[in-house]
Amino acid sequence: MKGRAVQPFAKKDFRAAIVRQKGGPFVIETASITPPRHDEVLVRVVATGMCHTDMVARDQVYPVPQPIVLGHEGAGVVEAVGENVTKVQKGDHVVLTFHSCGACRPCQEGHPAYCENFNAYNFAGARPGDGSHALCGHDQTQLNDRFFGQSSFGAYAIANERNVVKVRKDAPLELLGPLGCGIQTGAGTVLNALKVGPGSSFAAFGAGAVGLSGVMAAAAAGATTIFAVDVVPSRLELALELGATHVVNSAKDDPVDAIRAVTGKGVDFALDSTGIPAVIRNAVLALRPNGSAAIVGASKPGAVLDLDANDLMQNVKSIRGVVEGDSVPDVFIPRLIDLHLAGRFPFDRLVKFYDLDQINEAAADSEKGGTLKPIIRIGTT
Ligand code: NAD
Ligand code: ZN
Repeated sequence: MKGRAVQPFAKKDFRAAIVRQKGGPFVIETASITPPRHDEVLVRVVATGMCHTDMVARDQVYPVPQPIVLGHEGAGVVEAVGENVTKVQKGDHVVLTFHSCGACRPCQEGHPAYCENFNAYNFAGARPGDGSHALCGHDQTQLNDRFFGQSSFGAYAIANERNVVKVRKDAPLELLGPLGCGIQTGAGTVLNALKVGPGSSFAAFGAGAVGLSGVMAAAAAGATTIFAVDVVPSRLELALELGATHVVNSAKDDPVDAIRAVTGKGVDFALDSTGIPAVIRNAVLALRPNGSAAIVGASKPGAVLDLDANDLMQNVKSIRGVVEGDSVPDVFIPRLIDLHLAGRFPFDRLVKFYDLDQINEAAADSEKGGTLKPIIRIGTT
């Protein structure tokens, strides 16, 4: 892009994973980054989790402009801050999370995950407003960025003050990135949206990173009957180690029958992270009267649910969608870290580390189901 050659860069020629075409691959190239603007934070990235949404953007199911640097579960150290930033300073440890405008009604009401401008702030590939970029490719070529307000599959990222969360320095920073999206989604849906409480019953339909985070959160909240439903035996075995009291392999057994056999009338709360309409239907059928189900999994475009209207009405069931666990990240992510350090939220059990050079292997392992939550190591603490 003309004019870019005269830009001052805060950091030059560091490594970043770039997606140049629909479907990938991630290609490691050099990139440079401008200094933070008045409300921005320059972060030296230590490690970034990988989530399905990265793949969905790589494959253009969510259309983001390419070439682009993805990555939206970053963790790192603050390198520099813009002149108006007060939340963090150089040297602070931070987790990067989703971005939001702060001005719309949901943001004002304390639900930044429901920001009316979510797409513009997280998927536009550029800063909202002026459409500018912080990242630049080798030879001054244009790179799209600002994915989830961060684009953290690179050694440096620019986030906004709103989407950096300061975290305690005695926590293992390279582990923390996934708290910014997938883990806070499962845990937040259980703790913030469904409000699972002591002595209650809960079922996770889908035992991937999101569903298992829900299982761990339900256990931490004191739920006493916790189901995990999946079709992969190894995930069900892990669920039992993370707090599930019962598991159902739904490739073999009917999960609604299995849940009723234990609970009688069904569970108080259900979380679907599969996005499969037939599974969501089962999650609702498995609720006891006055129970609540949350839909979190991304369904195929145009997916339609087939639900029994009288079951909903007569049994007073609730069903709702939840984004990012309805989290206020500055409050919720430090809470999850405290729970983790107290031994009550062992999300490290979901994780496998990869080097930046292995990023395509991480994506393949995640898509094949072998790795629950890849974390890409990019720098050092
Ligand atoms: P994942 O693929 O690891 O988990 C999905 C699980 O569902 C897998 O374990 C899979 O074996 C299981 N499954 C598939 N078919 C099944 C069936 N018929 N019955 C029971 N289980 C079945 O993915 P994840 O990282 O846990 O993410 C789950 C979903 O949540 C994805 O669609 C992701 O895009 C979405 N997500 C949503 C938000 C949000 O804010 N709403 C945030 C992050 C991720
Ligand atoms: Zn995500």
